[in-house]
Amino acid sequence: MSDIVRALTYQTRGIPASDGAGVKLTRIIGAPDLNMLDPFLLLDVFESDQPDDYIAGFPPHPHRGFETVTYLLAGKMRHQDNAGHEGVIVPGGVQWMTAGRGIIHSEMPEQENGLMKGFQLWVNLPASEKMTDPGYQEFPPEIMALEEREDNGSVRVIAGTTDNGTTGPVTNRHTSPLFMDAGLAEGQIFAQQVPDTHAAFLYVIDGTAFVGEAHRPLDEGTLGILEAGNRVQVTAGSEGCRFLLVAAKSLREPVARGGPFVMNTRAEVLQAFDDYQNNRF
Ligand code: FE
Repeated sequence: MSDIVRALTYQTRGIPASDGAGVKLTRIIGAPDLNMLDPFLLLDVFESDQPDDYIAGFPPHPHRGFETVTYLLAGKMRHQDNAGHEGVIVPGGVQWMTAGRGIIHSEMPEQENGLMKGFQLWVNLPASEKMTDPGYQEFPPEIMALEEREDNGSVRVIAGTTDNGTTGPVTNRHTSPLFMDAGLAEGQIFAQQVPDTHAAFLYVIDGTAFVGEAHRPLDEGTLGILEAGNRVQVTAGSEGCRFLLVAAKSLREPVARGGPFVMNTRAEVLQAFDDYQNNRF
């Protein structure tokens, strides 16, 4: 099959939002103009050096039916759950949590000042896995796969395999995700196979990315959805660029949302609230 390069379609910068005990963030997926991008249910970006914007953190709250991915660029976050699991996520580190049938956890900043910057992504689980046992994949930056590119460019691979064969530490049979953090020097080209079964997006962290064969510009702080195809191609602008490429297999199942619970039917969401209220998590 010949390559079909994915074109840049819809772009959004999200909306300001507040979550947890008052953490200020930008909600990009799960917001009115991009409700979801199957299987992605939510993408929050937080970036602030004002402690009041993040210090209250996310006190204990439940999740059921999907996975949460936390990827930090700056600052530290301590998480703790009702099964006794605890850890600290540091810059360049990732936590990929499969909530499955349910966990109750807290996510609190492990710092009182300084910059906090990072992402939280929610990835849906197929119906057959929504009630699976909870599990974690957690990796510090030194374990992350790093692929050097020309002119000091690099690709940090969290999940998936680059075209050059570098594989990230996260494994996931549910949606076969790709999660890469690429830094390119001016004019450098990044190319990556992404199966056409997958939804895919770019989020630009720094600079401007020129996407696809049409070289459509995508600016810093903007998410761009990539149209159907089997190959992603990005060319860095004159300042170079850094971006996330995230892709995963679309589930094409009914989605019923109720706050921290995402199931297939309304009845299953009500059951989740009932289980939570009656200490069955
Ligand atoms: Fe959470």
